[in-house]
Amino acid sequence: MEQKTGDRKKQNWLLTGAAIAFAALVIVVCLLLRPKTGAADRFIIRYGDGQSVSVPAWETRTIVIRNGEIAEEATGAEEENVIRVENGEAWMEQANCPHKECVKQGKLSAETVQTRPLGTWIVCAPHKVFIEYAGDGQ
Ligand SMILES: [Zn+2]
Repeated sequence: MEQKTGDRKKQNWLLTGAAIAFAALVIVVCLLLRPKTGAADRFIIRYGDGQSVSVPAWETRTIVIRNGEIAEEATGAEEENVIRVENGEAWMEQANCPHKECVKQGKLSAETVQTRPLGTWIVCAPHKVFIEYAGDGQ
């Protein structure tokens, strides 16, 4: 009787140990496979009257928004914002809004969203231009 109970206890310990080892292995594999910038990471640029454009974080691209519309190139005239996406980061490269708060908000990326005061957003309130970081699965 006692012998049997001992065996069962040992078996339970083995099962628990195996489960913990397996869980640890899964976690390690997930961490190793996780790229620095997730493949689905992107920046959503919102402008104008509810329009938006989604840019994959791995792209290198400059987007000009003038008077609430996408423009071919920056002229510095009227209400203009120049947004840059490069190496998984996005930032307001230029803007001619009154206080340039959007330019001062710095770079948006998977790392900086943890510490930025505005989190996943860069906001140009006067021009109603917004950059939002959307991570994997969001
Ligand atoms: Zn601004």
